[in-house]
Amino acid sequence: MANYHGPVCRFCRREGAKLYLKGERCYTPKCAIERRAVPPGQHGMARRRKVSDYGVQLRAKQKARRTYGLLERQFRRYFEMAERQPGVTGLNLLRHLELRLDNVVYRLGLGASRKQARQLVSHRHFEVNGRTVNVPAYQLKPGDVLKVRAADSAVIAVARDASQARTVPSWLAFNDSDQSGKLLTLPEREEMESGVEEQLIVEFYSR
Ligand code: SF4
Repeated sequence: MANYHGPVCRFCRREGAKLYLKGERCYTPKCAIERRAVPPGQHGMARRRKVSDYGVQLRAKQKARRTYGLLERQFRRYFEMAERQPGVTGLNLLRHLELRLDNVVYRLGLGASRKQARQLVSHRHFEVNGRTVNVPAYQLKPGDVLKVRAADSAVIAVARDASQARTVPSWLAFNDSDQSGKLLTLPEREEMESGVEEQLIVEFYSR
């Protein structure tokens, strides 16, 4: 699946919030939001006109999509899957995003950013239930066990050092001794990305 490789701090500046796309740097004064919290582009400093409802919904969708590092097609596909499922569409959507293998690696502190986690998964650094998986979009379910492949522990150690500022959420458990993580339950809303406004995303796609 295609991936975005361009500059990312401009996304945080566009949304006016930290999306934590660059790992360690996001927690230092070098963060672009700390230094220059204005939208990117030559008109970034200009006074903004009143934003329409559509504009608000669009920004909410873009913010979530960029937070999880997905392209529009992938993100929309998750929405369509969430819509077809029983239950609350917004919550279903967030769960699809959170249960991606690259996101779980990031949440466990095995990748400094979601982008790095995605790369580590692609480079076959992890096993799920005893089998090597190199698909970042792989959906985990409760009970699944993710393990760092032993030969690759040194690579992960560097990523873990860079992830010290974050804690593992309660729906996951990490075992230091064998470098494994377990998905305990489905995440509840308050345990997922707090900056995502899923209701606005549902409204955006339901226009
Ligand atoms: Fe966003 Fe991180 Fe760049 Fe700061 S350093 S603007 S949080 S990506």
